[in-house]
Amino acid sequence: MKKILIIVICIFIFSAFNLNAAEIIDNMLYVDVEIVPNATTIEFSSPGTIIINEEDSPFQLEFSNTSISIQIPDGIEIVPFWRIGIKKFASQSEAEAFIVTFPECYAKEIPAISFDGTRFSIQNEFAVYLNNTFSSYEEAKLNAEVDSWIEENYEYSYCDLLIYDIEQQKDYYLRAPIRIESSALITVENVPRSNFWKPAEFVTREYESDLRVIINQIGKMNLIAHADFENYVAGVIPNEIGTDSPMEAMKAQAIAARSESLFRVLNGVHKDDGFDLCASVHCQVFSGITDINAVTESAVENTRGIVGVYKGKIINAVYSTSCGGKTETCSNAWGGKEVPYLTSIYDGKGSNPYDLTQSYYAEKWIKNPQLVFCNTQDDKGWVKNTYTWEKKYTLSNFQRMMSDKANFGTYVGYEVLERGESGRIIKMKLKGSKGELLLENELLIRQTLGGLRSSLFYITKDSQYIRIIGRGSGHGVGMCQIGAINMAKQGYSYDKILKHYFKGIGLKKIEYRNN
Ligand SMILES: [Zn+2]
Ligand SMILES: [Zn+2]
Repeated sequence: MKKILIIVICIFIFSAFNLNAAEIIDNMLYVDVEIVPNATTIEFSSPGTIIINEEDSPFQLEFSNTSISIQIPDGIEIVPFWRIGIKKFASQSEAEAFIVTFPECYAKEIPAISFDGTRFSIQNEFAVYLNNTFSSYEEAKLNAEVDSWIEENYEYSYCDLLIYDIEQQKDYYLRAPIRIESSALITVENVPRSNFWKPAEFVTREYESDLRVIINQIGKMNLIAHADFENYVAGVIPNEIGTDSPMEAMKAQAIAARSESLFRVLNGVHKDDGFDLCASVHCQVFSGITDINAVTESAVENTRGIVGVYKGKIINAVYSTSCGGKTETCSNAWGGKEVPYLTSIYDGKGSNPYDLTQSYYAEKWIKNPQLVFCNTQDDKGWVKNTYTWEKKYTLSNFQRMMSDKANFGTYVGYEVLERGESGRIIKMKLKGSKGELLLENELLIRQTLGGLRSSLFYITKDSQYIRIIGRGSGHGVGMCQIGAINMAKQGYSYDKILKHYFKGIGLKKIEYRNN
């Protein structure tokens, strides 16, 4: 490709752009999902008519059946700022009346997302902010009153993106942010796969119109899909439970994915990022329409709008591959408060007598397979290894791995300081002749020991090898996906499956509606 000089016009935009993206149109919810983070080049193609337009102007370009690369100039200056919110009003006239009395303020329309037990809605409110902005949170805090709030935002120079038509070898410039629409599917290159096992892999994926390109807080581009929320759920399932699981398990997965996403949107997990959800394991892995088939579509269609609720609120319906026989509590996995519907349950019929917080019982549990729903010892391939697994290191390899992290020496032993309800280790010491490593979190334990499936394990050592022998796959909180699949195979319906894993919840069909 030819070298092109990219022109940047440097005038600061004073007004901060709209950072909230979800909207409801005709009782359909649309969400913005970040599909490529921190890009310097974005490449896509579409066999249809492609329209790219500036969001802040009527200016647009039209292409047909071509491949396009979008590039961002180097060294965009990003200026973060903090502003103080004073009061929120339901109507513009109320906000304006307030400003008459307090002229040092301005009003801005902002979306307020809420759930009233039946209806998920996005109503516009009017927030009044102080005209002055601040260059640090601390400075803003000094000027804030008791009942005001502080928001972080950023501004950047007007930025012209290079839009290069690869087939015609022609270049154009459009000011960010831009919107990309096409009459046909859009194929995007180099999309991060973003799952736990292969985080660094890049793939080609297909999306429905439309996409957006915004400039993020570090001066790179984010490619965002503006997706019909139910289609988004359909695009999550294949990555989270596969496309060949039994229908009742797929329906349970669709409801879990829908609930968890809405919970995250309601709680503003990405509220300052310019999108609602990301497409990586941080939220849920979303691959556009690439892997959707008739079965995943029907699982979503047949549960349309259904979510898990607890005391009138949408639940945080987290899930992992295999609990190993007993699920973990969310406070043990991630700290923070106990959540009533995310307690530890026995993943089988009846109850079990083992207290897995005791290493003696946890080891016995790992050595003796039980009749739990996620027992896959008779299965083949990767599914078998979700229940029982072993990771083997030569002594020297193990010691080298530990020496990268601390002054370790030769391996002496390990000490479990705390196990959770599922038997997962949440605090442990690895002891070397020169020093020791204290590990205080299940994910950190798994990463430090070379990417373990779970932290439910014990370690043995002989003259040659260190063996880590374990059970289960993932954090173990909430729904156990392998367990859900086997429950469905045994004839359980989706509601029985969900109520087994999320204690005390109800299921409710909700509406996306603003009035
Ligand atoms: Zn996320
Ligand atoms: Zn399980």
